[in-house]
Amino acid sequence: MKLSETKTVFQNELSNLYSKSEIEELFSIFCENFLELSKIELRQNLNQSLSEIDSEKFSEAISELKMGKPFQQILGETEFYGMKFFINEHVLIPRPETEELLELAIQKVQDLRLKVKGLKILDIGTGSGIIPIVLKKHFPEAEVSAIDISESALEIAKRNANFHKTEINFIQKDYLNEKLDDIYDIIISNPPYIGIEENIEIEDSVKGFEPNIALFSPTSDALIFYRKIARDSTNHLSGNGTIFLEINQKLGKETLELFQHFPKAELLKDISGNDRMIFARKF
Ligand code: GLN
Repeated sequence: MKLSETKTVFQNELSNLYSKSEIEELFSIFCENFLELSKIELRQNLNQSLSEIDSEKFSEAISELKMGKPFQQILGETEFYGMKFFINEHVLIPRPETEELLELAIQKVQDLRLKVKGLKILDIGTGSGIIPIVLKKHFPEAEVSAIDISESALEIAKRNANFHKTEINFIQKDYLNEKLDDIYDIIISNPPYIGIEENIEIEDSVKGFEPNIALFSPTSDALIFYRKIARDSTNHLSGNGTIFLEINQKLGKETLELFQHFPKAELLKDISGNDRMIFARKF
């Protein structure tokens, strides 16, 4: 089969699920991954014939896409902060909002002139490990730890840390029910923050394929992780400690409220203008 014919199959089979431009984008993503063809090379090589193995890969991808599976899970990898990360059904697919959280944290460490050597950083609910790995890449002299309740998530996180040659202290822990062991200078987190009553608003492709444990608060209290982090900041955040949190856009004020005992706590918006991050510092 020629590549141009495969493209037509892609368009016909997926037209109920995706728009024409989305299909175009998906097709080029798979061509880049399976055939190592850039967008320009793809345009110039549409007459190329596909090997049987490659044709097979495309048909499998099409059937998985038709089931609503996110393309990142089909490929087993995605790009985040300009880096490649392995992902699977046990971890959340990285979102651009978390890139913004990291940009904020990196900027603040620089602006506040925090001493990076030995800076103790903790990521709570690390998932695929994107947060600690990006931070360790930026601040190699920092001591970066990351916890998650899920062994399967930590497996992927460790694979990503090895791939990026970063040394991270990964700890399996049920954060809501177990104590922290150390005092940190930075606590950062993108915890599960979707409330149970918001369940109906979440797309099936998200709910059906991404781990619910990473998306939904385990109780009717959507702020349960933030409350625990605010409490832990008394004994587990150092005197010159800072906190960076990704939050539910609908709960900006309520979440900020939990950090009012800090000398400085700010609610910040993401690029779409939604309340998305909390920055708080103890000094
Ligand atoms: N931002 C994600 C979503 O709405 C949720 C991430 C989270 O719960 N931490 O799909």
